[in-house]
Amino acid sequence: MSSIAALIVAAGQGQRAGGSVPKQFQPLVGEPVLRRSVAAFAAVPEIRMVQVVTSANRMAETETALGGLACLPFAMGGATRQHSVRNGLEALALYAPDFVLVHDAARPLVSAALIRRVAAALDEGAAAAIPLVRVADTLKREDAGEWATVPRDALYRAQTPQGFRFAALLAAHREFADAGVTDDMALAELAGLPITRVVGEETNLKITKEEDFTLAAALLRGMTSEFRTGQGFDAHRFTAGDHVWLCGVKIPHAAGLEGHSDADAGLHALTDAILGALGAGDIGQHFPPTDEKWRGVPSSMFLAHAAGLVAAAGGAVVHCDVTLICERPKIAPHREAMRARIAEILRIDIARVSVKATTTEGMGFPGRGEGLAAQAVATVGLPPV
Ligand code: MG
Repeated sequence: MSSIAALIVAAGQGQRAGGSVPKQFQPLVGEPVLRRSVAAFAAVPEIRMVQVVTSANRMAETETALGGLACLPFAMGGATRQHSVRNGLEALALYAPDFVLVHDAARPLVSAALIRRVAAALDEGAAAAIPLVRVADTLKREDAGEWATVPRDALYRAQTPQGFRFAALLAAHREFADAGVTDDMALAELAGLPITRVVGEETNLKITKEEDFTLAAALLRGMTSEFRTGQGFDAHRFTAGDHVWLCGVKIPHAAGLEGHSDADAGLHALTDAILGALGAGDIGQHFPPTDEKWRGVPSSMFLAHAAGLVAAAGGAVVHCDVTLICERPKIAPHREAMRARIAEILRIDIARVSVKATTTEGMGFPGRGEGLAAQAVATVGLPPV
């Protein structure tokens, strides 16, 4: 199978959208614009790696926005968009992917279907696959008070992701390093690469001005009109130790919990509930316990991954409810910290998170203190099928 890299350009300082930080770091329905853009690619299995290009003075914002998403180490932006893309391509050269999809962070509504159309065109032999949308409005040109109508028959709007054979795009960037182009298709034109047109999407909005946030939010919410519920269950055995992790909170205890990761049964049950709502399998499929790389990892990573899948599907976690089942440790003193931590990982309001606890009146394995269990339900809002 061909290897495909995504290159997300987030180095722009554009402040036309208002606010104290560039638009890609501003929240759109609870999630930074950049996070939505990256999550869209991270959730498409065909995309092998995601390279983000950010500016040196926005490293902290970029880290925060992308917490929990699998990305390569960030590449540094240049003086222009073209230079930023070039820097990202040079960083990707280490991995020599077959194809690269270059995407503007400011287009957070890109669909998995469009990403796949671009990738498929490359797989079928295209050197450059560009999403294009026909211009529908009648175009007018003003020249010193004189108006003229511009024929629109052959006019298109170019969107991203723009897909290329990696080696061809890198060569074009090196050859035309200071061409001052505003997209990569322009370099393909300069380099004489044949262009394959992919059908773009009207909803693949580019957030430029402040009012674009309102429009993007309305589109996102309009796309979220179906609600699904998933449930999850998990249990872990007590073992020697002096603390347990439950719902992302470290609790001192006379025993530890046995497990491949940090054995946080609360977050495991919740992750499974969200995966269940998506019909996306279970936690063991996404993070096999046979895989050494998940040994000892914090379970917040699993939950953040599930949340990323929801965002990539254009949806949102509306509500979740976790019940911890154990005699000890006592949960009540930690309940609010658990709610806060889950809300933080899911990037939702704490009012949408419930954590409860119960015992089994001394019966069964939780009652005998052999281990503890957790169950969870999650409600996810998704675009209509
Ligand atoms: Mg587990």
